[in-house]
Amino acid sequence: MKIGFVGLGNMGAPMAANLVAAGHGVTGYDTAAPAPEGVIRAASAAEAAKGAEVVITMLPNGAILKAVAAEIIPAMEQGAVLLDCSTVDVASAREVAALAAAAGLGALDAPVSGGVGGAAAGTLTFMVGGDAADFATARPLFDVMGQKAVHCGPSGNGQAAKICNNMILGVTMIATCEAFALADKLGLDRQAMFDVVSTSSGQSWSMNTYCPAPGIGPKSPADNEYKPGFAADLMLKDLRLSQEAAEGADADTPMGALAATLYARFVEDEDGRGRDFSAMLPRFEKRGRKGE
Ligand code: NAD
Repeated sequence: MKIGFVGLGNMGAPMAANLVAAGHGVTGYDTAAPAPEGVIRAASAAEAAKGAEVVITMLPNGAILKAVAAEIIPAMEQGAVLLDCSTVDVASAREVAALAAAAGLGALDAPVSGGVGGAAAGTLTFMVGGDAADFATARPLFDVMGQKAVHCGPSGNGQAAKICNNMILGVTMIATCEAFALADKLGLDRQAMFDVVSTSSGQSWSMNTYCPAPGIGPKSPADNEYKPGFAADLMLKDLRLSQEAAEGADADTPMGALAATLYARFVEDEDGRGRDFSAMLPRFEKRGRKGE
């Protein structure tokens, strides 16, 4: 396929490189990052989009996505598909899809999980909102860049799935970390705690697969001095998106709200910026009942 790719950062560059390796023709654009090997560098986002059957965007946030969409939609050919893989707010995703539809284009919101490692290995999971026909068009590209793509319904539903998943993840990671810190203070050995919880009703992905305690369970960022992995900053971004969506939809999400507050404190006032989101464990370790 002829593909345009806008946003060649930590995630976009390896995704574009995998498309090239699979034999697709990729023309890319980024305001700062260089194009990976095999990707033809365009002088603008509009130039990258021109003549492409699918234009992929992998950008930092909804405001930037909307600005880029306004530039590329007029340059795209009728029937082409705008495939946004960024994590953005549900409202921006639906706005961009409506603009694309009005211009005779298909549009999919397809945020990913799997991180930079998954992007490089081609093992991302895509959560996809949009028409079934557009999903079918993009399917071969999902197969190259990922191991799984789930069609979640109409436009915006991919972003909805992503923020609901990550709200659960943020909450369970905090719960797992505070339980380890409590177990420490009660004199319970961490290995024993893991052996019980990982096979009992307290189990979760945070405990079983991504255990925040160093030296316990499968290898995780805790075993690498909490280098990300999945940075606390990105968890904060996703939790804020979940709360923005909950506000708009009038949904009661007290645990998600508290997780957003704790990650905001961790990233903005404490030492969480640039650390893995599981570094909440050393944070709780240091604290007492009064939070000191
Ligand atoms: P990044 O900052 O490394 O990449 C974003 C790129 O967009 C940068 O290279 C930047 O120069 C470029 N850019 C910004 N404005 C632009 C514009 N107007 N035109 C063209 N390019 C522009 O970020 P990333 O880690 O690659 O993340 C991209 C998206 O993927 C984000 O929405 C993020 O939330 C999501 N995501 C990231 C991860 C992760 O682990 N990094 C995991 C899942 C989802």
